[in-house]
Amino acid sequence: MKVYPREKVVDPVCGMEVSLDDPRTMVSKYKGRSYYFCAQCCVRVFEKNPQRYLKAKGPFGRFLVRLVNTNVKVFGRAGPPCH
Ligand SMILES: [Zn+2]
Repeated sequence: MKVYPREKVVDPVCGMEVSLDDPRTMVSKYKGRSYYFCAQCCVRVFEKNPQRYLKAKGPFGRFLVRLVNTNVKVFGRAGPPCH
């Protein structure tokens, strides 16, 4: 029996947590790394300007994560209305 890790990663565009084993999760490859997204629209936004979304590290990145958590409260698990 194959075991699928219930690994969670963060969608770098909208900051939502996505599960690697969720069939709705989209993947995009950039510079040999895989990035995961909640929806096709986030992939499109990312592929237009990947650098912009990969820089969110450090204090500002943590600020973004807080902001996103607030968004999740406001918009629910569906995330920001990007669809
Ligand atoms: Zn997203």
